Order: sequence, then C-alpha cells, then structure tokens
Amino acid sequence: MSHTEQTTPALSFGKAWDYAPAPETTPVPLKKSYDLFIGGNFVKPKTGKTFWSINPATGKRLARIAQAGEADVNLAVKTARHAYDNVWSRMPAAERGKYLFRIARMIQEKSRELAILESMDGGKPIKESRDIDLPLVAAHFFHYAGWADKLEYAFPGRKPKPLGVAGQVIPWNFPLLMAAWKIAPALACGNTVVLKPAETTSITAMHLAEIFQDAGLPEGVVNIVTGAGDVGAALVNHPDVDKVAFTGSTEVGKKIAAAVAGTKKKLTLELGGKAANIVFEDAPIDQAVEGIINGIYFNQGHVCCAGSRLLVQEGIHDEVIRKLTDRIQTLRVGDPLDKNTDIGAINSREQLDRICELVDSGVAEGAELVQSSCDLPGDGYWFRPTFFTGVTPSHRIAREEIFGPVLSVMTFRTPEEAVERANNTCYGLSAGIWTDKGSKIFKLANQLKAGVIWANTFNQFDPTSPFGGYQESGFGREGGRHGLAAYVKL
Ligand code: NAP
Ligand code: MG
Repeated sequence: MSHTEQTTPALSFGKAWDYAPAPETTPVPLKKSYDLFIGGNFVKPKTGKTFWSINPATGKRLARIAQAGEADVNLAVKTARHAYDNVWSRMPAAERGKYLFRIARMIQEKSRELAILESMDGGKPIKESRDIDLPLVAAHFFHYAGWADKLEYAFPGRKPKPLGVAGQVIPWNFPLLMAAWKIAPALACGNTVVLKPAETTSITAMHLAEIFQDAGLPEGVVNIVTGAGDVGAALVNHPDVDKVAFTGSTEVGKKIAAAVAGTKKKLTLELGGKAANIVFEDAPIDQAVEGIINGIYFNQGHVCCAGSRLLVQEGIHDEVIRKLTDRIQTLRVGDPLDKNTDIGAINSREQLDRICELVDSGVAEGAELVQSSCDLPGDGYWFRPTFFTGVTPSHRIAREEIFGPVLSVMTFRTPEEAVERANNTCYGLSAGIWTDKGSKIFKLANQLKAGVIWANTFNQFDPTSPFGGYQESGFGREGGRHGLAAYVKL
C-alpha cells in the first residue's frame, strides 16, 4: 500500500473535525519602535539607524528596532562595567536574589502579553509560547534567584566570585527563554550583562527590559543592544568583556571561539545539533510516535536539540511510518495566534530558503519525501510537516542541521548499530531512547555521545537540569547548579 492510500482515513478524520478559528484576543502593547536599553534607560542608537522586525506569519512589518553600532556597544560595556564595579558586585547576595525573585514574579504577571508578542515576532504557536516558553522563562529566574545567596553551597569549600561583565549573544528560536538562560545565572552570580538578541526577534527582549526597569534593577546591570551579527561580533570582541556566552549556529560559534582564543575571556558555546531519536521494537509505539512528533515539529523544528534523525528498529519500521504518515495530517499549521495551531510560521524568509534547499537535496539524493497535504496560509513563511524515509547516513539531510519541520528516518537492527548510527555525527547535543527495558536505557545512555538524553520522552526542559553539548554542539552547561559554574571564578 502506498503512503497516500494509507493516509486517507486520517484525512477524512481531519475534515470531520474542522476547528473554528480561536484567535488570541488579549491586546498587546506593541510599540512602533524600540530603542536600545543602556544604563536603565531606552536610548536612541548613535548610528541613527533602525531596521524592521517582521511578523513571519504575514510577512508584514511589526516595529522598528534600533540598530546599534560599535559606539553603542562600547557605551553598553562601559555602563555594565560601572554597574559591576560600583553596585552589583558589592551588593549582598540576598539582595541580588530579591531583584531576581521580583523579576520572575513580574514575568509571570505579564506572561500572557509576552507570549503573544513572542508568537507575533517569531512565528511560534501561542500554545507553546504561553504554556512552555513563558513558564520556563519565569522558572529560570525563580531558580537562579534562589541560588544567589547560596553559591557557597553550590561549590562546597570554595569561594565563588563573579567574573565581571558578561557579553551574551542569543538566537531567534526561543528569544525570551534564551535571554532568561543567559541573564538569570549571570546576575545571580554577581555579574553584569550586555545582551544581543537575534535580529529577527528583538521585541520581547525590550519588553523584558521594561520589567527590569519596573523591578528597579539598578541601572546598567543589564544592557541590551539590538542589531545584526556585527553587533554580536563587536560585543564578543570587546576587550572589557570578561565572559562570552553564545547560543547559535556552529559556524558562528567557531568564529567566536577563534576570536576569544588567547584572551582571558571565559567562554561557553551552545551550538547546533542533529539528535538521534532511537525507537526499539519493544517501545510503546503510540507514545513513541507522539514523542517523535513532539521531537521534530515542536517550535517548527527550530530547536537545536530537535530529534531530527529518527532511528527505528527494522521490525517496526512500517508500522511507525504508517502512524507518522497519519499523524502529520492531523497537525494544524497556521496562524501562530490561534490557540488550536500546532505548527506556526517559519521564523524568516532566509530560514525558509535554507529548509527548502536541504529538502530539495534530500529528494535529489534519492530519499522518499512524505509531507502533510494541509493548506498553507497565502502570506508569510510556511513549511508543511515533512519526513523522509529511505535516508542513508551519507545524505545531507542525515548530516546537516535543517532547523525546520523535517525529519530523516533511518533503520537499525541491533542496539550496537543504533549507537553507531546515532554517534555518526559531528554534533552531540541530545538524544532520545524509546524502549520498555530500563537496562537498555542505561546501557545506551552511557554509549551515546550527547549532552542530554531523554528516555521515553523528548524535549523536556527544566531549570534545575543542565543542558549543553559535546563536539560541534559546543561546551559548557546552562541550567541547574552546573549553569552557575560558567559565571563564577573559583
Ligand atoms: P546564528 O546565525 O549563529 O546567530 C545567533 C546569534 O549570533 C544572533 O544573535 C546573530 O545575530 C549573532 N551573530 C551572527 N554572526 C555573529 C558573529 N560573527 N559574531 C557574534 N554574533 C553573531 O544562529 P541562528 O541562525 O540565529 O540560530 C540557529 C542556530 O542556533 C542553530 O544552528 C541552532 O542549533 C543553534 N541553537 C543552539 C542552541 C543550543 O542551546 N545549543 C539553542 C538555540 C539555537 P543575527 O540575528 O543578526 O544574525
Ligand atoms: Mg520578527
């Protein structure tokens, strides 16, 4: 039976269950333009220039964003240094903790409007920004607020000291969450911050800056400079930055590692991934199928730890493919602000082009394409939930990070072969194991070269749990007690 024949029942099921639109109606305080945040104030960039942030679900302009230049970065670093020397590093740790607790509570209070802004600017479905991103953002601030006055318990017998000024550069896939992962531990440990958000998703960082103002955070403790890659480069290369924290592509990560080498700057890199999601014959198949769906289609697949390589044991391959083929037909793709949407818009035209190019390479190299037949909105940037069967380890779609809703399916016969195939990558960020047998989980988890390994689940995040990679996925850990180590001298 062909895949098209098999999907017929699911299609008719989908039609019988048409959903009425359920758009989010809470008004949002979107501004016409956003300035830089330096020294506790919103200031115009010295360049006099701005750029547009686009709503990727419509392709329309949302707001103007200030374009920082080198002089703005210099001022932000100088301001952060002043705040470090004179205020933040001298403040009793319990007082620092109080600010972080206050910020966490204010994020909770404003979480609905922040979630809407995150979905408008970045394209992610409101049910994810509302139920996953924002609760985790607040949880990270709460978690590190608690650590602020307990650092000596985190490092028993040592006297942890702050590093100074942290220059932090983040990507567009989880804008507020990445800001929280960076800012919360830095402040808890007594450092001050200059943050550079991604060009396509700067808006929510500026609303977070308003929360810092409202929380009375001392001026200059957090500074935010917006702009393109050159602003990130100016920040990480600035001689008065003590710590560089970067999340983004492996390509840019390598440039930053080279630039920081030979300086006294401390560095953490959270880079790309190509995670194996391994499903054994004895796994609970229906749960595994849901885990595969969540693993690759969560946040349109714009997830560094996405389960983008599915390794299925041969005996259940056909059954898993049949179920996946049916399941992708029921995923609702469309308006990110509709509460029923499962898959929102692709973050930018550039990212959509990258996904299309890699998908074309998969077809050209001989893998078999399976795609949802759903309608896509007319404007904006969209991609249907997609997977490839018949993928071989040499295909580009098996090796390169697609960073979109595209899964590559391969098979294995034995656990040894599963490990070998899973580890056959330059990355090493995450992996998933699906099996009924606990001993198999422990054995495999020890053999897989990945920083985070999920068993019978996928894409679970918690502020108490360290996250980070091996090899070309970077180094250093964020989250939990481990995350503190990146921001202290011992
Ligand atoms: P990217 O191009 O590397 O950009 C990341 C950030 O770096 C952006 O703010 C970017 O600014 C800035 N940047 C660009 N060139 C720079 C340079 N030469 N020096 C300093 N900063 C520079 O990555 P992306 O395309 O935004 O994000 C997707 C990638 O991030 C994926 O590969 C993904 O796997 C990875 N990622 C990893 C994790 C993790 O925790 N391991 C989490 C999320 C994403 P612009 O926005 O202006 O380009
Ligand atoms: Mg945008």
